[in-house]
Amino acid sequence: MPEGHVLHRLADELNRHFAQRVVRVTSPQGRFADEAAVLDGRELLGAEAWGKHLFVAFDPDAWIHIHLGLIGTLTLTEPEPVRGVVRLRIGTDEQVADLRGPQTCALIDAARVATVRAGLGPDPLRADADPDLARRRIHASAKPIAALLLEQSVVSGPGNIYRAEVLFRAGVDPMLPGKRLPRTVWNRIWDDLVALMTEGVRTGRIDTVAEEHTPEAMGRDPRVDDHGGEVYVYRRTGQPCLVCGATVRATPLAGRQVYWCPRCQRPGRTGVRRVHR
Ligand SMILES: [Zn+2]
Repeated sequence: MPEGHVLHRLADELNRHFAQRVVRVTSPQGRFADEAAVLDGRELLGAEAWGKHLFVAFDPDAWIHIHLGLIGTLTLTEPEPVRGVVRLRIGTDEQVADLRGPQTCALIDAARVATVRAGLGPDPLRADADPDLARRRIHASAKPIAALLLEQSVVSGPGNIYRAEVLFRAGVDPMLPGKRLPRTVWNRIWDDLVALMTEGVRTGRIDTVAEEHTPEAMGRDPRVDDHGGEVYVYRRTGQPCLVCGATVRATPLAGRQVYWCPRCQRPGRTGVRRVHR
C-alpha cells in the first residue's frame, strides 16, 4: 500500500492539470457511472490528500473520495484509449487521470468528508496537522508504539517503511508501550516524519539515511529494493545495522513485520538518550 507521500504527490498532480478547469468525468468500467454523470462537465475545484485518502472537490458539497487500498492505482497521462478496468477517468483535451482497482471511490457530501476526516489522526504533510492530538492518543495506549504509528486514527499517512525508519532514527524500542514514550521523543519523531515525508513528496521515493550513511559515504553498494530508497532497517533483515553493525531483525506485529536493530533500539529504550543524530 502506498504511504502518504504518494497521495500528496497525486493531489499535487491533479491540481496541476485539473484544478479550476472544466473536466470530463466518466466511468469506463461503469461502476461509478451514475456519480460520474453528476460531475461530468463541471469545474474541478481542487484535490487534497489526508493521510492515505484523496478528496477531489467539484463543489463545497460534492467530493470524490478515493482510497487506493492495496492494489489501486491512479495514473496521469496524455489522453489515450482506455486500457484495462478503469473505475474513474477525469480528463481534459491535454490530460487524463485513470483510477483502477481502488478500495474506495465514492461521491460524498461535505458532512461525509467531515466524518471521514474526524476518524483520521494528524497527517505530517498537512499544514493544519496537530501533532499533540496524536501524542494524546499515543499516551492513552499501552499498545506498542510501532503498532500505534500504523493506526491511521493516531497518525495519518505513514506506513510500514516510515514507521520502522523513524523509530530507528529516534532510537526507540518498537515494542515500547505508547504511554511510556516521552513527550520530547514524540516531538522529535513528529518533526522527523514531517521532514522525511516532505522529502518523499519532492523525490517520489523514501530515503531515510543520514549523509554519513549513504552508499557513497560508506563505500557500499546502493540498496536494491522495489519498495524504497536508502533506509536503515526496512526489509534489511539479517543485514548489518548501518550504524552499529548488529544484525537487523524483523518481528511480526499486527500482521506486519516491524524491522529494527536490537542494539540501537534495544528493549526498553525510550529514545531519550540518542544514539545518533
Ligand atoms: Zn544498530
